[in-house]
Amino acid sequence: MIILGLHRTARQLATLRQYCRTCGRTRPAALDRTATRITVFFLPLLPVRTAHRLSCTRCGTAERLTRAEAARARRAASA
Ligand SMILES: [Zn+2]
Repeated sequence: MIILGLHRTARQLATLRQYCRTCGRTRPAALDRTATRITVFFLPLLPVRTAHRLSCTRCGTAERLTRAEAARARRAASA
């Protein structure tokens, strides 16, 4: 018997200043990456999905980003 499952981890990559449509102001925003992996006997092995998200630290409004958009935002945060 093989025990399979999914394991999701989230990691904050950067914080940048971004205009938030909900707040109507420029606020700090967190750039996060969420990785989902297939687990075998509770050990995360195979990555199946990676998602990037930019969320306002004030109101929590989030938007999904493509990998290219996330890379661009990360470069902008480090510049
Ligand atoms: Zn906001």
